[in-house]
Amino acid sequence: MTLPGAPHLARRGRDLYLEDCQLATLAQQHGTPLYVYSQASMLDALAAYQRALAGRPHLICYAMKANSSLAVLQTFARAGCGFDIVSGGELQRVLAAGASASKVVFSGVGKTRTEMRQALEAGVRCFNVESESELALLSQVAVELGVRAPVSLRVNPDVDAGTHPYISTGLKGNKFGIAHEQALAVYRHAAQLPGIAVRGIDCHIGSQLTEVAPFLDALDRILDLVEAIEAAGITLHHLDLGGGLGITYTDETPPSADELIAQLLARIDARGHGHREIVFEPGRSLVGNAGVLLTEVLYLKPGETKNFCIVDAAMNDLMRPAMYEAWMGIVPCTERDAPAVTWDVVGPVCESGDWLGRERELAVAPGDHLAILSAGAYGMAMASNYNTRGRAAEVMVRGHQATLIRRRESAAELYANERLID
Ligand SMILES: *Cc1c(COP(=O)(O)O)cnc(C)c1O
Repeated sequence: MTLPGAPHLARRGRDLYLEDCQLATLAQQHGTPLYVYSQASMLDALAAYQRALAGRPHLICYAMKANSSLAVLQTFARAGCGFDIVSGGELQRVLAAGASASKVVFSGVGKTRTEMRQALEAGVRCFNVESESELALLSQVAVELGVRAPVSLRVNPDVDAGTHPYISTGLKGNKFGIAHEQALAVYRHAAQLPGIAVRGIDCHIGSQLTEVAPFLDALDRILDLVEAIEAAGITLHHLDLGGGLGITYTDETPPSADELIAQLLARIDARGHGHREIVFEPGRSLVGNAGVLLTEVLYLKPGETKNFCIVDAAMNDLMRPAMYEAWMGIVPCTERDAPAVTWDVVGPVCESGDWLGRERELAVAPGDHLAILSAGAYGMAMASNYNTRGRAAEVMVRGHQATLIRRRESAAELYANERLID
């Protein structure tokens, strides 16, 4: 039996397996909290995008902020994938994983002069510029280096993505992108700047989108602009349609990447833009369902109004529930014969917001291992050291093979950069 949204996660008898690796065994071998990823799941998710775009110029740029562990980046780089970065740190990281800068696009509202210089020196494919002042600074930095910066403007199409306000980015009043009404004027300005080479247009309207309609709305708004910009004599080579495709955490039914792209391409062709290179920047949909977070039950604390199941993973390991009130599946690694009880699954961190799941029916005992599902995206990447907790270890599985791709952080490493005063 496979679990929702995660084709490589299945129960065999009482035991949960990711590919051919038994999760309870991995938890014992490596300790908990432990992130475990299926490489096949990541490659399958990428293949769906690649298949849908086969036969036309395209580049898939994995939005690496979703999970930037080196072995994850290496997996995608070897499969021919490009990358969407949002900082100089991400640039260094992705190059260390073996990626080519020529397949990197650089997004983000607050690029610094130093980051711009690093990215120009590395030779990134494109900067997704989010404001007029950023454009001016980028031109200046490029001129100083004697180059032209390849640029797309990130346009805010003002469409409602119908997702959580913290992960919605394409509405007016949002910090991201250049307003649709101003975009043509900013393109005209960009075309005059000595350090800028206009390459394309970009948008990204939000995250965990589960409908096709907002993507199509945004596309129409972008194509209207493309037509106006080209009528003004400025050539655009590529259309970057961002990321944002959702995954199944509970009962969501997002379109598959194939379905979404087929509909977008049909619209692009119908409007006569089929010759353009298409770029996508998927993050969550490439890695989210590929990962689980394993945790051990420390204590059971039944109460009058609530029962608490206290586990060794916490909000510092997995922020999504505390930050977005996100619902994530929680299941035992090994099922036991006992009646289920309703538990709030909480971590050891000293915050009431430190919960991983509320009101979950589970048959558990101290020492059992639980798997938190769909934890491959915005899990480890958002982990912190709050409460001087070292970040979790990570394992990548490939069939029967399990490889430790990051060892657990020690407490001494956490204060290694600190100094006592005299
Ligand atoms: C975060 C982000 C993405 C990826 O979003 P997902 O929802 O993870 O697919 C793509 N592009 C930009 C500019 C982003 O900030």
